[in-house]
Amino acid sequence: MEFNIKTNSRTDFIDITDQVQNFVSSTSVEDGICLVFVTHTTAAVTINENADPAVRTDLKAIFDRIIPWENNYHHMEGNSAAHMKTTITGSSEMIPIENGRLVLGTWQSVFFCEYDGPRRRKVVVKVIG
Ligand code: ZN
Repeated sequence: MEFNIKTNSRTDFIDITDQVQNFVSSTSVEDGICLVFVTHTTAAVTINENADPAVRTDLKAIFDRIIPWENNYHHMEGNSAAHMKTTITGSSEMIPIENGRLVLGTWQSVFFCEYDGPRRRKVVVKVIG
């Protein structure tokens, strides 16, 4: 299964937990593993706090500090920083499924991480029972 999302700025963290859970619920899998995979080289996926949006603000700020957008990079497309952040964040997450539900902590959500937006993006989700 895959779904598209539209990001709204160069850096954007979008909570996709509901889309992922909805797909898990549409399968008959009660106990298993859910893989979330991002098929892009300048976007990623991570699991982090959903309660305080300041966590995402801080994450963006620290990423921008250690990986500035301009830094005499060799990559001619001009978006090297987005590629670096993608490698640091990662292209996939694996989440356990119990009783048909993603096993996430109270404060955890699955976030799509845009690093070179705004764009239309694709997320792939696979469930193994
Ligand atoms: Zn590039």
